[in-house]
Amino acid sequence: MTENIKQSLHQSLLHAILYYNDELNEEQGGFIVKIRNKEEYRFIPIRNSNTGTPTALVLYTADVAEFNEKIAMPMLDGEWSVYASFHTHPKGMRALPSSRDLTELFTSFATNYIYAPGKELNMFDYNAKPEFGCYNWNTSNIMTFNGFKPIIK
Ligand SMILES: [Zn+2]
Repeated sequence: MTENIKQSLHQSLLHAILYYNDELNEEQGGFIVKIRNKEEYRFIPIRNSNTGTPTALVLYTADVAEFNEKIAMPMLDGEWSVYASFHTHPKGMRALPSSRDLTELFTSFATNYIYAPGKELNMFDYNAKPEFGCYNWNTSNIMTFNGFKPIIK
């Protein structure tokens, strides 16, 4: 990817999907950042700190050092803010948040995307419901895959 290409939100989501390494067979992910004062987004992949272990098959945990270097530091410089988290689920599973997604990953970000390879891309954004004394997540289906296979050369 060329760093300087301007991306819409949908282009950055497409980039996140295309970044998925089908052969790794692990949960993968990263973050979508929004460029300051612009309608420009960018997907920044961050390695799964569980990579190479059985945990990685079912859990994406962003590597802290890489997150700090590639996302937090530029954010402190005012370049961008984190718009959303993005992670994949194991093949065959749906793109619905696990209990660990809800209690760990989602507690840090108001907008979260989950991609089930070849199946669906869903967005979950925070919806405070003070009348119930709790919160929940709005679920939006961004894309459902129905067998169309693009030819990538
Ligand atoms: Zn998950």
